[in-house]
Amino acid sequence: MKDTSELTDNTRRIITLLKRNGPLPKGELAQLGNMGWATVVKVINQLAEDGMVKRLGTVILDNGKKGKRAYLYDLIDTRPLAIGVDIEYQTTTIVLTNLKGNVLASAKLPTVNSRSDQTIRNFLLSTISEFLEAHAHKGVICGVGIGIPGIGFPTNSRLDNIKKMKGLMDWLSQKLQMPVQVNDNTKAYAIFEKWNNETFPQENFIFVSVRTGVGTGIFYHGNLYLGTRGLAGEIGHIQVDPDGRPCRCGNRGCLETILGEQNLYREYCLQVLQTKNLSGLNDPQTLEAGLTDLFSRASRGEEPALSIVHEAAVQLGRGLAHTIMVLDISNVVISGHFGPHAEVLLDPMRKFIGSHLLPGTSCTIKYLPFDPQGHVQGAALLILKDYFIDIQSETM
Ligand SMILES: [Zn+2]
Repeated sequence: MKDTSELTDNTRRIITLLKRNGPLPKGELAQLGNMGWATVVKVINQLAEDGMVKRLGTVILDNGKKGKRAYLYDLIDTRPLAIGVDIEYQTTTIVLTNLKGNVLASAKLPTVNSRSDQTIRNFLLSTISEFLEAHAHKGVICGVGIGIPGIGFPTNSRLDNIKKMKGLMDWLSQKLQMPVQVNDNTKAYAIFEKWNNETFPQENFIFVSVRTGVGTGIFYHGNLYLGTRGLAGEIGHIQVDPDGRPCRCGNRGCLETILGEQNLYREYCLQVLQTKNLSGLNDPQTLEAGLTDLFSRASRGEEPALSIVHEAAVQLGRGLAHTIMVLDISNVVISGHFGPHAEVLLDPMRKFIGSHLLPGTSCTIKYLPFDPQGHVQGAALLILKDYFIDIQSETM
């Protein structure tokens, strides 16, 4: 199979249209992708020859020519495939997926309980090798994408982790004899949002993830903006309170110390439940249930839940207003585990941002709960994204 660097823009356009729309006839591909008929014929023939596209049955065209039929074309389900690995602090998830995002195989296992580089490398190599051995017969696997927590794994230094990611990428790629991409799992999820959110096919948008940390993925002209050192978009570590709590990054009073899930949950226990028992902090289900209860109480106007959520809304709003002004990107997608009452955070946050942008400017802020498959599918997309291209929204 071809290296993705050899794919033309028109080839990527056709693959993207088939991923988004499902099977299509050539005429519609030409129209949606703004391509000539001859180009579509040439690309489809080449993709069929490369085993990436198949011809299905015919469909009656609805274009006035009575009874005229055309063949439908679809992506092949088994090539190219990619392995996605999502490392969370406690659990590692691994999937085998295709361009359509279908999961052909998946597994979960406990994340290695060590921060030593070599132990982590060996854990990943053995996990991926065993998975490859069990599932390689399912199709043509073109690479492995790995999402890791931005801070806290393996170290608490964002910059050190970026250096380690590069080392891990080169080492694994050589051991596995295939392309390996590693990025933090917020960036991976942002890529998932980019290629799977049908309601939000924007070239420019800011994805904000609120979990243990608060991270972003910034898409500019269709590409993830990483910055010179890969540190772009760390709004979770904007200082919002110089006298605030110490942050795991080493500074104090970062946005994350107010808005991170564990920190919201801590306030919920101390102020709402009035208990010093914080054992739920390390159990994802208890934590999520606590946050849902916090947001539910706030939506009923109950204090102190409302004040806790309101403070979080203002601080996130402040960080986002600055980000929006600096970047001039007006579409924002926020994901978190806020339950059905997320609007109690979003509403005051939108108001705060609205009153802090330059007069006359506006922005769109959407909340989408996390898709449970998003992080691991996003990891696989670190590889598969190279098959896609932005298509102007007016032709979509
Ligand atoms: Zn920090």
